[in-house]
Formats: sequence, C-alpha cells, structure tokens
Amino acid sequence: MSITLQNIIQSIQAKPNGKIALETIDNVSIDSRSLQNNSKTLFFALVGPNNDAHTYINDLIAKGVRFFVVNYIPENLDSKAVFLVVEDTLKALQDFAAYYRNLFSFPVIGITGSNGKTIVKEWLNFLLSPDYNIIRSPKSYNSQVGVPLSVIGINENHNFGIFEAGISKVGEMERLQRIIKPTIGILTNIGSAHDEGFLNISQKIKEKLALFTDVQVLILNKNKTIEAFLKPNVKTFTWSTQDKKADVFIQKKTFEDYSELRISRKDICFTIDIPFTDEASVENSLHCVLTMLYLEYSTEVIVARVKELYPVEMRLKVKNGINNCTLIDDSYSSDFQSLKIALDFLENQKKHKKRTLILSDIFQSGLAEEELYSKVSQLIISNKISRVFCIGETVSRFKHKFINATSFLGTEDFIKAFENLQFSDETILIKGSRQFEFEHIVSLLEEKTHETVLEINLNAISHNLNYFKSKLKPETKLMVMVKAFGYGSGSFEIAKLLAHHQVDYLGVAFADEGIDLRKEGIDLPIMVMNPEMTSFQLMLQYHLEPEIYSIRVLKAFLKAVEEKQLDEYPIHIKINTGMNRLGFDPEMLPELVSILKNTQRVKVKSILSHLASSDVPSHHEFTLQQIASFERDSSFLIQELSIDPIRHICNTSGISNYPNAQYDMVRLGIGLYGVSNEEEEQQMLENVGTLKSIISQIRTIEAGESVGYSRRFVAMKTTRVATIPIGYADGISRHWGNGVGYVTINGKAATIIGSVCMDMLMADVTDIPCLEGSEVIIFGKNPSVTTIANATKTIPYEILTSISLRVKRMFYRE
Ligand SMILES: *Cc1c(COP(=O)(O)O)cnc(C)c1O
Repeated sequence: MSITLQNIIQSIQAKPNGKIALETIDNVSIDSRSLQNNSKTLFFALVGPNNDAHTYINDLIAKGVRFFVVNYIPENLDSKAVFLVVEDTLKALQDFAAYYRNLFSFPVIGITGSNGKTIVKEWLNFLLSPDYNIIRSPKSYNSQVGVPLSVIGINENHNFGIFEAGISKVGEMERLQRIIKPTIGILTNIGSAHDEGFLNISQKIKEKLALFTDVQVLILNKNKTIEAFLKPNVKTFTWSTQDKKADVFIQKKTFEDYSELRISRKDICFTIDIPFTDEASVENSLHCVLTMLYLEYSTEVIVARVKELYPVEMRLKVKNGINNCTLIDDSYSSDFQSLKIALDFLENQKKHKKRTLILSDIFQSGLAEEELYSKVSQLIISNKISRVFCIGETVSRFKHKFINATSFLGTEDFIKAFENLQFSDETILIKGSRQFEFEHIVSLLEEKTHETVLEINLNAISHNLNYFKSKLKPETKLMVMVKAFGYGSGSFEIAKLLAHHQVDYLGVAFADEGIDLRKEGIDLPIMVMNPEMTSFQLMLQYHLEPEIYSIRVLKAFLKAVEEKQLDEYPIHIKINTGMNRLGFDPEMLPELVSILKNTQRVKVKSILSHLASSDVPSHHEFTLQQIASFERDSSFLIQELSIDPIRHICNTSGISNYPNAQYDMVRLGIGLYGVSNEEEEQQMLENVGTLKSIISQIRTIEAGESVGYSRRFVAMKTTRVATIPIGYADGISRHWGNGVGYVTINGKAATIIGSVCMDMLMADVTDIPCLEGSEVIIFGKNPSVTTIANATKTIPYEILTSISLRVKRMFYRE
C-alpha cells in the first residue's frame, strides 16, 4: 500500500492541522503496542467504551509515528505530528477502507451468518488458492474494526477476496457492506447467537441480508423465510437436503469418520466424501461446494479438493515449552497478514528477552518472492527477533535477508537436527502453513504434561473487564483480584492483560503471589491482603503494599519500614464492618489514629472494608448497614488524620448491586473470570475457562456389569463407557459422579457413571459418536462452573480454585 495523505484526507473528510506535504503512508495501525508502527504508519486513535487510544499518542510520537487520525488533538502535541481531525475515528477507518477497497475490482466473496463464517472462509481459501491470489480476513477479523483492517491488507497482486462479516446490532451491516462490497454472497445460517442487539428474528435477518444488496449471486441453504426478505434483484443459488426445489439437492450418508454427499443439480450428479460427520461441517462444506459450482469448477476438481478439507484452527495458542520456553503456536497458516498479527501477539507476550521465529515458506502473499521476503525481513527486524529458523525451499533461499538464520529444506530435516539445537528461556513463535506439519515441531518443543488442559480465553477476560468497567463512574478506580493463581486461571498472563488495560491495582492474598508477579515484570501497584510478618522484608524489596488490619500488624510493619529507613510507604487500612474476618473494629480506631499521627514512615493509600453478602438480596439491609459503618469509620480516619485516601468496599456483586457504594475504587474478582450470581448478568459475561481432556479408552459392557470402585454403577443394558483421565485430585468433586454430573463430548452430554476416581472418571457414551482420543469438555459453556457448583452444593469460586496445578493452563486469543 502506498497512499498519499491528500487522498486519505479526502476519503475520510478530515481537517488536518497545518499544511500537508506530499507524504505517503504505507501502513495503517490501531494497536499502540505494535512494533510495526513506524514513520510511514497512519495511526487511527480509536475510542472504546473503556480505552481511548488518544492517550498513547505521546508514546507513539516518541517511537517515530508521525501521522494520526484523531477525534481531537491531545494537549501540547499540536506541533509534534500531523493530525487529521475527524468526528469519529472508527467511521474514518471504515471510510478509508471503503475508499481503498474501491481501488480494486476483482471478485470478492462476502460471508455472514451466525456460525461457520471463519471455517467457510478458510476452506474456500484452501479450495480456491491453487487458482487465485487470495486476500482473506485474517483469523476471525469480522467486526466493525476487523473488516476494515482486513480489507486494508489488499495489494496489487491479489485477484480474489474472501471476507467475513459479523454484526451484533442494527445498522452495522450496512457499514460492512460498503467496505467489503462483495460480488458473491454466502449466508451460512441464522441462529440465535447475539440476539440481544435485535428486536426480533426478522430484524436480524434483514440486517444480515444487508451484506448482499449488490451481489451477483447469494449462496445459501434453501429457506423460504429468509428468501422472503430478499430484494427481488438478488439472484440465489441454493442447496437443500430436504427441499427438492433447491438448485442443488443433497442426499447424505454418514459413516464412522466421513460423510458421503450425493449432489444433484439439474442433470449433473456426483458424489463427494468429506472427512467429517457432524451437521455443521456438512453445512459448511456445502457452501464451499456451491461456490465452486458457481465458479464453474469441474466435478473432478471439486471431488478431489473437498476430500482434503481439514479442521480449522484459528487461534494463536500460548503454551509452556521445554527449558522454560514459551511457545506461540500458530502452526496452521503462514500468510503475510497473519504473520503480522502473530508478531504483534509475540510483542504483547513480552515474556522473554530472547525471541525465536520458526517460519515456513509463505504462500499467497500476492507479492513477488523477492519483495515478500524483504518485507518479512523488515518485520523480523522491527519485532526484535533474535534468531530465525527457515523451513522450506523458498524461505531458505532468502535466508541471507534474516538475522541469525538457520535453514532447513523441510520439517523432517529440522526434526532430525532438533537434538543439537538449543532452546531455553525464550519465546518461540511457530508459524507455518499446514502442509509443513509444524504440529510435529510444536510437540517436540512443548512441555510434556498430561492431556487435560484448562484453556483460558483472553478475549473473554477483556470482554468481562470492559463489562464491569462500563458499570463504573468514569473516575472510579479498579482493583482486580488475582489471588489464588488468578482464581485458578493463571496469574501472570492475566495480570499482563490487566496491565495493558490499565487497571489501577492488583490484589493478591499472600506476599509470594505478589513476588511472583513482580518477577514476571508486572509493575502495577499490588495490595497484599494477608501480609505475614515473615515476608515484610521481601514485600518492601518488591514494593508490595500491605493491608493493615490490626495494631499488631501495624507495629510490626512499622518496625520493618524503620529498619529500611523508608518514608511514606503505602499501606491499606482494613475496617471490619460485619464480615468479622480481618480488620479494625471501631473501638480500635483511636489507637490506630494515635500511632499513625506520630509517624511519617507509612502513608494511608487506601481505606477498605469487605461486604459479606452483597450477592444475597435477603441481606440487603445488612449490606446497607455495612456501607453505613464504612462511611462512618472511614470518615473518622480521614478527619482525624487529615488524609485523602482511596476508599473501596465493593466486590463483584457489590459493583452490580450497590452502584452507590463505588466510592473511589472497586475490587473486581469472580466476575472477571466470567461468573455471576445473577442469571441476567451471567448472560452478559463471556466464558473464560474451558477444562478439556480426551477419552483414554472406550469399552462396551453388558447388562449386569459394573463400573468403577465399589461397583456404584451397574448397567441395565448394553452400555458404551468412556474413561477420561481427570479425577478428584484434579479438582473434580466426587459429588459430581454417580449419575449427578456430565461431561460434554461432540456437543452431547455424557453422564458420569460410577464414582469419580482420584485421576479418572467414566462416562456413558452409548448414544454419542466418539472415538478414543476424542475431546471431552469437563466444564466451560456447558456444563458451566455454576451448574457444577449448584449440583455439588458449593460455589463457583471453590471449583475454579480447586483445579490442580498439574492441569496445564493454555491461554489463547480469538
Ligand atoms: C476476593 C476478594 C474480593 C473479590 O471478590 P469477588 O466476589 O470475587 O468479586 C474483593 N475483596 C476482597 C477483600 C476479597 O478477598
């Protein structure tokens, strides 16, 4: 891309500050953290409900960025950069993308629907890429921000586009249509996801169809309701397994591990096999087949290519590697766009100084090889990669362009040499296209633990954080509780994300939790709720701030601070208002005042108390009393000591139920991890943790045979039993066994039969298609932690924090 500023100003109708020279930009960014930002970058300062990119502009100027699209010019920066002022930076980004899209005129597929967009897009890319230079949305970039960024990736050599569009409310699709301008439309399906944004189903259908106002053809599963909403000028090309009036009629047969689809269209008839058996995959593959038919592919080519369809994996996965390495596994794609995204992700991880890239040949960049690898080399340099392993014939030829590069002709050569390569204390990005089978490299580098993992969705954490932030007054500060290993979800990765979101404080239970965070480079203020005297020295060394809850603790802490000759060390005063756990009772306050008045060693940074029952409506009166006591006691301290501390009392349900008690700060805990006590609020949160395992063994038993210890399950009929390697030692309660609970396999509930063992449990899979090695969901969306907690008479907190540390945590972004 190379666009003059003049053209940009016109396309987004901006007012520049001052005169604009004949400058060009060649890259657009919205991510202040990206190391790819440079002097030719145009930075759009987007404003979210809780994050305003205008606050990063100063830093970006220091890093050499010169061009900004802004809603306003930040104070004192007017003379330091070129500012293009607009009313709405998001709209400007979209206008620019629409302008840019119009510079190109090749066929473009636009995909929308409730499910399957990304898979259909990836599969079409796979099926069509032998014949076209395709630009497609990276990952699942389908939002109001993702779509413009996808389209901006087009370059002169592309001759086919595939973009997905996702919406959550009325009016959004029209904007995306303008940017994508699809010539071929695909509607995957319309389900009930994201219904909140729409009045009713017809409004939702109309909105989705807005993507297709200008297409030459719309491909969809024949559906009279939907077709009734279509404008008469939109031509359709439909398939159906039921309605013979569809353009293409499908008869399906399912076998153990593949489906056979008989395809009839007018006088053509042929059969394809796809390596999937589930409904959704069949549906997704049919959208692809119809697209190929529309593009006039021969049946032979269609048959041969769809046979090779594969499960789509779009996520960047972070894993623990051997020798204290961190792996970023992106071993399923190697296009240039997704390389850029992966490198930004690597930068955000910042875990180790040393960064290694394992890279395969790159396909379909649309660029000539020489130019492509020069660009890759620039990326590698700006992202401070310490060394590169090139795998593949083409990338190896350009090895001289990279710093510290070693080359291998193929993955096998790398694996043969693996023993002599050194990997330790570094972050390794593994980025290769599918045919290179880098999963073998990942499995060599991955730390070996057992097959059960707790997957943590970092996007969901951001979502939940923003949800609670939106409930706060703009000036209310936010402390996030990451005690107990981040409620079992992993403390460091979550703390890093929270630091990026600029929360004000972290809260931990014990000093060593805070020390671990410091050692990982977290420099947010950290409050320690149970400061133990034995740890005071370390707390001072790592700058951790104690919660002081009694005269005894205060005196001991003062002694430690005096020894170090420190002044005004921040402390937090905890008042007991009815929880009766830790804290000063009202009668102790005068003594507290007299000690604090006589010392400069510490400074009261905040005063806090804790609500005992903010989640229980029947204790409303009690909670109000707690708040009143807090008001009285904290005011007393403020007055007597003439101080201006941060006051805070609300936990998660306090935020939701007592908006008037926000004071200066709130302490968010369980809500961040996606759990609410209230049904309605639960709907607004996204699931964070998914505990997964696999089936170790399947056997069939006959009526009268039993399963497990004490023969607690006896089969009434022939029963298929799956054994899953997770048990009570991993945190699965025995109360969840013996027919009470279930796990989810292939979308179906499999009842847990017999007693949960220490390291294993057994489930009834009689009616569930599955194999040894199939994935099992222990908890996540279904069953949810709350469901399990209710059935086992405990609370979600206990379940989350009981998941043993031998279960590997895996973090990902969508
Ligand atoms: C754990 C904790 C919180 C957070 O509570 P949630 O109910 O998880 O939001 C807040 N304050 C204190 C003192 C805590 O111990």
